[in-house]
Amino acid sequence: MMTRPENVLKFCPKCGSSAFHFEGERSFLCNSCKFHFFINGSAAVAALIENEKDELLLTVRAFHPNKGMLDLPGGFVDPNESAEDALNREIKEELNLDIKEAHYLGSFPNQYVYSGYTVYTCDLAFRCKVQGWNQVHIHDDISDIQFVNKENIDWNAIGAESIKKIIKAHWNM
Ligand SMILES: [Zn+2]
Repeated sequence: MMTRPENVLKFCPKCGSSAFHFEGERSFLCNSCKFHFFINGSAAVAALIENEKDELLLTVRAFHPNKGMLDLPGGFVDPNESAEDALNREIKEELNLDIKEAHYLGSFPNQYVYSGYTVYTCDLAFRCKVQGWNQVHIHDDISDIQFVNKENIDWNAIGAESIKKIIKAHWNM
């Protein structure tokens, strides 16, 4: 894929030299300043939130990648932030909901293409309970929400493969 780091990064981010070579698998080495640059998985969080009818909350993405497609609420973990704090922050930012309980489900690797560059993510999924739905708002990088169940979910409308896997794991499918 042309968006992979080895096809996009041409210069050493430390000294600017073009003697910057992909070593295969997951690192670059600069032959000029010897800087060793690693491509690691970026942590992200995804929340599984159900309403009183056991329907799962999905968000509609407001921006690319996968604009207009369905997603779980969540996002990237900031530098120096815990996954739990990222979960609370993202759910507050996107939905104005407060998480009361969160239980870790598992992690799901994904590839997220943004600005023509592939970011390898490790999506950490949490089953969450929220304080209440009264103050729910649609904010930030989502344009709408919908509630789905096993019978009516449209798998083809979900953008990311990792999100499909998370939902299937949640429903034991
Ligand atoms: Zn360098």
